[in-house]
Amino acid sequence: MKPAPFVYHRPRTVEEAVALLGLPACKVLAGGQSLVPLMNFRLSRPRHLVDINWLPGLDGVEWDPDQGRLRLGALVRHQVLATHPLVRRHLPVLAEAAGHIGHWAIRSRGTLGGSLAHADPAAELPAAMVALGARFCLRSQSGERWVDAGEFFQGLFTTVLAEDELLTAVEVSVDQSARWGFYEIARRVGDFALAGAYARRRGGVIDLTWFGVGPKPFTVELQAGEAEAALEQVLQTAAEDVAARQWAKVAAMRALQRAGR
Ligand SMILES: Cc1cc2nc3c(=O)[nH]c(=O)nc-3n(C[C@H](O)[C@H](O)[C@H](O)COP(=O)(O)OP(=O)(O)OC[C@H]3O[C@@H](n4cnc5c(N)ncnc54)[C@H](O)[C@@H]3O)c2cc1C
Repeated sequence: MKPAPFVYHRPRTVEEAVALLGLPACKVLAGGQSLVPLMNFRLSRPRHLVDINWLPGLDGVEWDPDQGRLRLGALVRHQVLATHPLVRRHLPVLAEAAGHIGHWAIRSRGTLGGSLAHADPAAELPAAMVALGARFCLRSQSGERWVDAGEFFQGLFTTVLAEDELLTAVEVSVDQSARWGFYEIARRVGDFALAGAYARRRGGVIDLTWFGVGPKPFTVELQAGEAEAALEQVLQTAAEDVAARQWAKVAAMRALQRAGR
């Protein structure tokens, strides 16, 4: 199928882009890896499409040594996240997770901002941001606001992004003392995850963040010694069926192992 007719806009500045977002039935086009299939199936019928791929300054990866903080532009492609030396050095768990997104062709087009705005519950990056305690910069004509990842995701494909807001950047403060593990279960390489988990270990405390298990990523805090029993309890309420609970448990246990038991 072909998409319904729309007007294509190619702004050259962020200011111009956010002004266009005030148009009726307007959508941002980033990598197009989720939006274009939806348009082709006519599940999404924007009247205006604002292509942000030509905006300067949104594809940077910057390390601030004074703040111990990594700043990632919304247009950073998944493949860049998976391979960039600064990401691999400071947030290797994020680089590892990005390498699990789809296939190379999808990773080379899909963007960080697009994945976060799309908020697929089985996607790797939204959960990564919740696990990492990231915050997002949202720009509109009335200025900018910063939102914590934990508040950004509201439910199935739902976020706090307003229709006239553009996600421009992500910041992650790097906790050097934490040890990380990541694991996901998928039917085939490149498929969306059936379940996945990030484990962050700090001393005797473990934070587990799941994706593909509920309508949005969620985190539970466990004490190292009681992780297995607590997992059973958490997943009884979080996952809808027995198979989903088993996948979620296996993903969590493997992520835990990788974070060091
Ligand atoms: C075959 C296939 C397999 C895939 N497998 C996976 C997978 O395993 N894991 C995974 O996570 N994803 C997967 N994806 C999806 C892929 O990661 C997409 O790149 C991602 O979901 C959306 O990013 P995008 O840049 O393509 O956004 P687009 O498709 O351009 O946009 C998606 C949505 O976000 C909005 N948007 C985009 N950027 C912004 C912004 N900066 N500010 C505000 N709104 C914005 C758009 O308006 C749209 O509503 C797969 C896709 C395909 C086609």
